[in-house]
Amino acid sequence: MNEALLEVRDISVSFDGFKAINALSFSIAEGELRAIIGPNGAGKTTFMDIVTGKTKPDAGEVIWGEKNVSLLKRQESQIARLGVGRKFQKPTVFEEQTVYENLLMALDNDRSPFAVLFYRHNENDNQRIAALAEEIGLQDHLEKRSGDLSHGQKQWLEIGMLLAQEPRLLLVDEPAAGMTLEERQKTVDLLRRAAQTRAVVVVEHDMDFVRNLDCRVTVLHEGSVLAEGSLDHVTENQDVIGVYLGR
Ligand code: ADP
Repeated sequence: MNEALLEVRDISVSFDGFKAINALSFSIAEGELRAIIGPNGAGKTTFMDIVTGKTKPDAGEVIWGEKNVSLLKRQESQIARLGVGRKFQKPTVFEEQTVYENLLMALDNDRSPFAVLFYRHNENDNQRIAALAEEIGLQDHLEKRSGDLSHGQKQWLEIGMLLAQEPRLLLVDEPAAGMTLEERQKTVDLLRRAAQTRAVVVVEHDMDFVRNLDCRVTVLHEGSVLAEGSLDHVTENQDVIGVYLGR
């Protein structure tokens, strides 16, 4: 396996005395596709909040890349600059702007929807936007108003907007929620393609979706790693069966 891009070592977080993350340790390799699964309350969201700097752990270390940089002292904006992009469940595209304009804004974080109206884009921007649109399968919808896209297409556009910022790690929260079967399959293809050039971590409930991702799976439970390996391997684990089926 490649060198670790992200490593969490023995991190713990408590909310009002309740341990949401409990001595959690694991690592994500450079360019890896990984699924994180676990029942409600397992600590998946809190883990993503820690990686993006939204929540500070009470103990432990978060190590980013070979530079051995602890993320703990950094703010969210600095972490985005280090190369972590986070996709929340609900798409948050600018509905009044076209797909092209949304991607253009994403190329330069400081460009507001208003400024884009007056911005004379150059050939380099056009090429990057064309490549991004191709990557997210929206190459035939560049001039479409984003509010008129389907739910799945909005999710892909938002992933494209994150990819525009060239993250080394993309965190995606339940991308398949609310999608049609066809959109789910396209999302699997998109994420697998995205993981060819950067690490992608997908937090997901839907087991069929995780099976199609065909990647290493980490099962979280009560804030710790319960099992790790292929989906077949972890779903044969008696502890995992116990947690999911309540035995
Ligand atoms: P998951 O995303 O796996 O469903 P979470 O990370 O959201 O789990 O939550 C883990 C546990 O921590 C849950 O029991 C939840 O109620 C608790 N929790 C999460 N955030 C807070 C918070 N801000 N204040 C209090 N409790 C929290």
